[in-house]
Amino acid sequence: MSVYINDTCINCGACIDECPVEAIVDEDDNPTGEEIYYVYSNKCVECVGYHDEPACATACPTDGCITWDAIGESPSHRDEITEEQRSNKAPVVE
Ligand code: SF4
Ligand code: SF4
Repeated sequence: MSVYINDTCINCGACIDECPVEAIVDEDDNPTGEEIYYVYSNKCVECVGYHDEPACATACPTDGCITWDAIGESPSHRDEITEEQRSNKAPVVE
């Protein structure tokens, strides 16, 4: 994973068109079956090379909904994010 959408997501749709690599799908396409938006961990690049911070989290109106997660198979990620932030699923936007 890289960024992660948790179950506080209200399915507003503000994030999906902000993603430069089309890593986000809506509740209808969520492979977990949960009725929330979902980030494909193997596509998300944490907006490295596109924006100063993850654009989905900037756009999201729900506090703490989008968090850091483990790097996993992501092709690139933000070096400054600590392992503690990732393992604790710290909010991307405080
Ligand atoms: S952090 Fe960037 S690349 Fe990753 S899902 Fe959000 S908008 Fe897409
Ligand atoms: S912007 Fe936030 S609340 Fe809205 S769909 Fe995306 S993750 Fe869910």
